[in-house]
Amino acid sequence: MRNATVVVLEGDGIGPEVVAVAREVVDLVAADEGLSISWDEHLMGGCSIDVHGTALTDEVLRECQEADAVLLGAVGGPKWDTTDPEAPRPEQGLLGLRSGLGLFANLRPVKPIPALYDASPLRRERIEGTDLLVVRELTGGLYFGDSARDGERAYDTLEYTVEEIDRVVRRAFDAARLRRGKVTSVDKANVLETSRLWRERATIVSEDYTDVELDHLLVDNAAMQLLMRPADFDVIVTENMFGDILSDEAAQLTGSIGLLPSASVGEGRGGLYEPVHGSAPDIAGLGVANPLATVLSAAMMLRYSLDAPRAADRLDAAVAAVLAEGLRTGDLGGSATTREAADALLGALAA
Ligand code: NAD
Repeated sequence: MRNATVVVLEGDGIGPEVVAVAREVVDLVAADEGLSISWDEHLMGGCSIDVHGTALTDEVLRECQEADAVLLGAVGGPKWDTTDPEAPRPEQGLLGLRSGLGLFANLRPVKPIPALYDASPLRRERIEGTDLLVVRELTGGLYFGDSARDGERAYDTLEYTVEEIDRVVRRAFDAARLRRGKVTSVDKANVLETSRLWRERATIVSEDYTDVELDHLLVDNAAMQLLMRPADFDVIVTENMFGDILSDEAAQLTGSIGLLPSASVGEGRGGLYEPVHGSAPDIAGLGVANPLATVLSAAMMLRYSLDAPRAADRLDAAVAAVLAEGLRTGDLGGSATTREAADALLGALAA
C-alpha cells in the first residue's frame, strides 16, 4: 500500500456534510488502487475564528504545506459577516492558504453533463458540447495589492510582474496541450497597463507552444461570448479579478453550483481542492447538500496530486452515472438527501 497525507478542512456550513461523502468514496477507490490516505483534520474559516480568533493558524498552514494535498469544504456564514476591517473574516483563511502554499493558478473545469442540459439557463443547443477550463491567476492583482481607506477615499492597487503572468499562462498552455490545444487570454488591454503587459507576455509564452493556438479577448467581450458560444472555448486564462467573475459566469452554464469542482495549484505536486460553491448556510445541517462538487474536486485531487488517475476516472464516471440514473438533490430540482447521493455513488462504484 502506498500512503498519502491529505489535510482535510471541512470548514463551515455544509462543508462537513459534503466532505464526509467525498472521504467515504475516495477511501474506497483509493484502496482499490493500492493507495491508503491519512486524513488529517483541522479547523479553517469561521470555525477556526471561534476557537483561535483567526481563520487560519500558523500550525494549520504548516500542516497543509507538509501534506500531499488539501481537501476543503467551504467557509463563511452570517455569524462571521462583518464590515469592521479589523475583525477576522473566514475568507482570510482562503487567501492565507493560497499565498502560504504558493497556489498561483485556480483551475475550474466547466463541462455540463448531458443529463442536466435542460437545467442550464441557456438553451440546450447553446451549451451542447461545452467543455472548457478557466485558469485564473490567484495570488496577484487587485486582491493582493496595496489598499487602504482614508476618510472619504479608498483605493486598491492592481499590479502584475512578468514572473507572475508567465507562470500562470504556462499552466494554461500545459493544460491546453492535454485538451483541445486552444488558449484564450482575457484582459482589458485597451485600458489597463497591467493588461497590456499580460497580453505581451501571453504572446511571448505562446512561442514555446507552437502546437497550441492563442487568441486574446477583452474581458467585457469575453463575458458576452461565454454566453453566446461557450462550446468554442477550450482554456481561458486571465488575471485574478476577471477570473473570479468569469469563472462564476461560466459556472452558471451547468445550471448547478452543486456540481462544480476546482483545484488550486502552484509549482509543486500539492494543491488545494474544493467545490466552487460556498457554505450554503440556508441548508446547513439539514442533510440535503449536494456532495457531487466536492466528490469531483476529490477526483481532481486524486488525478493531479495523488497520482491515482484511475481512481479519479472512477469517481468522475460514478458522478455521471448517478445523474444519468436520475439522482437529483434540491439544487437540481429534486429531493434526494446527501446520504442518498452518497449511497447512489457507492452503488455506482460497486457496479
Ligand atoms: P453559496 O454557494 O454558499 O450558496 C448559494 C446558493 O446555492 C444557496 O441557496 C445554497 O443553498 C445553494 N448551494 C450551494 N452549494 C450547494 C450544494 N452543494 N448543494 C445544494 N445547494 C447548494 O453562496 P452564498 O450564499 O453567496 O455564500 C454563503 C457563504 O459561503 C458566505 O459566507 C460566503 O462568503 C461563503 N462562500 C465561501 C466560499 C468558499 O469557501 N470557497 C465560496 C463562496 C461563498
